Amino acid sequence: MSDKSAQENGGSRTAGGARGPRLREALADVPAYKPGRPASAEGPVSYKLSSNENPYPPLPGVLESVTAAAASVNRYPDMTCSGLFAELADRFDVPVSHLATGTGSVGIAQQLLQATAGPGDEVIYAWRSFEAYPIITQISGAASVRVPLTGGPEKEAHDLDAMADAVTERTRLIFVCNPNNPTGAALPGAELERFLDRVPSDVLVVLDEAYREFVRDERVVDGIELYRDRPNVCVLRTFSKAYGLAGLRVGFAVAHEPVAAALRKTAVPFGVSNLAQEAAIASLRSEGALLERVDALVGERTRVLAELRGQGWTVTDSQANFVWLRLGDRTTDFAQRAEAAGVTVRPFAGEGVRVSIGETAANDLFLQTAAAFRKEL
Ligand SMILES: *Cc1c(COP(=O)(O)O)cnc(C)c1O
Repeated sequence: MSDKSAQENGGSRTAGGARGPRLREALADVPAYKPGRPASAEGPVSYKLSSNENPYPPLPGVLESVTAAAASVNRYPDMTCSGLFAELADRFDVPVSHLATGTGSVGIAQQLLQATAGPGDEVIYAWRSFEAYPIITQISGAASVRVPLTGGPEKEAHDLDAMADAVTERTRLIFVCNPNNPTGAALPGAELERFLDRVPSDVLVVLDEAYREFVRDERVVDGIELYRDRPNVCVLRTFSKAYGLAGLRVGFAVAHEPVAAALRKTAVPFGVSNLAQEAAIASLRSEGALLERVDALVGERTRVLAELRGQGWTVTDSQANFVWLRLGDRTTDFAQRAEAAGVTVRPFAGEGVRVSIGETAANDLFLQTAAAFRKEL
């Protein structure tokens, strides 16, 4: 029996011919999440610009908090995240009952799907966008409805009209990635509001704002302002990017009841460790240092975009901590050249490369690669 028909019969055959455990059909062709390549072990220098991480070490106070919290790792963490919630409620002026945490904002996105969608349902998102969306949607059993980005390499924007047109009575959730990973394009608030006004009130709209702290375009509105009078909007934020805590897995959601309550129900118990909670609190309290670092990265982003344009590339105006080069067939070639020059970037074969803004020296190596590559086109 072929693997496929074995699966259709509800099990896969092991080498000895015994039937293996029955796995859900939905998992059969779930694409694997590709982590960014680590910095290369070879060569005189090597930088990782492939995962949109923060190049700075943890903010002042974070190591001390984590070290102190480590003394009690024999205990389960505070399941209600009370300290972190109090800090977030104050910082963002939202009630504690509208907050939820999770193992990174990807963990929360998965919980939102668990809470809203299953076989027969539809989930809409732009494409290309964050590569976790197709994976977690497929695991839920729901069908992905992908709406192509619009405006070409200059804009790389969500086509919000087409996304609203794609809503059917099966639609349960819509992801809006703002700014969009991997293109960096951000949506003006007026456009987003018009879209939200068009979406039926029983469809959950998830505003994934993983890069919110890097936004400088004043037309882009903070999702937390948009959620306030819209019970079908959920905002996702993370401590992984600007706050520099990618290794600790903590993100949060802001949403009205009953969405926030559904997130509490679908959470893995004690999923957010004590170390992560304490680190997040310490990071929020180090806001001055955070803003300085974010400003420095935004300064580097401005410089990188200007130099790329000077070299002749068409690039969209990224509002995140990365830039996007649409390279089509030459994507893999470019990624290999960058790696040989000492920087690992994130290629999406056949489409383009996403390059995180990192240390100045790393950004320079990327720019040198881009300049040399451009001359050969
Ligand atoms: C990095 C990223 C996240 C955050 O992931 P965590 O699970 O919080 O580390 C969420 N959404 C997008 C679009 C991202 O790029």
